[in-house]
Amino acid sequence: MKIGIYPGTFDPITHGHTDIITRSLRVFDKVVVAVAPNPSKHPLFNLAERLEMVKLVMSDLGQVEVTAFEGLLVDYVERSGAHAIIRGLRAISDFEHEFQMALINRRLAKQVETVFLMPSEEYSYLSSTIIKDVANHGGALTDFLHPEIARRLKERIRSLKP
Ligand code: ADP
Repeated sequence: MKIGIYPGTFDPITHGHTDIITRSLRVFDKVVVAVAPNPSKHPLFNLAERLEMVKLVMSDLGQVEVTAFEGLLVDYVERSGAHAIIRGLRAISDFEHEFQMALINRRLAKQVETVFLMPSEEYSYLSSTIIKDVANHGGALTDFLHPEIARRLKERIRSLKP
């Protein structure tokens, strides 16, 4: 059974992430979505909230496991017996950072491969950061987020406003 690990911050999960997970299931028998705490990114939602949201959105997809992970990604990949790291590539702007990460990870654990998948064109400009910006300015979120995630994001932003 081929297992892929899809790591990220998922602050919050968008249709772009879901698209990559769906595509991954055409390549892997099982996908583990690994949510990282990433405090340096100052996430809007805490780890438990982000995990819960990923689980909520992924509830219909069999063969998807959602978990939290801490520490070095390659250690986690090796520990869990997975075969590859899955990453999404949107625009060329993602490339440099992803290239660097993939090569560092290979250096740290040479048997761990990174697989890049491209999202559907309609999500190729989508990021959690830009969506938080849209939400912050009261824009419509229906094309980008699961309705419950959109509701939680709006509520969080409202609660942070003075
Ligand atoms: P990270 O902090 O690891 O970048 P993210 O949650 O922002 O966490 O992204 C996790 C992964 O999902 C990354 O590989 C990122 O490139 C990918 N990703 C995010 N949004 C999209 C999208 N709209 N289309 C394709 N891949 C995406």
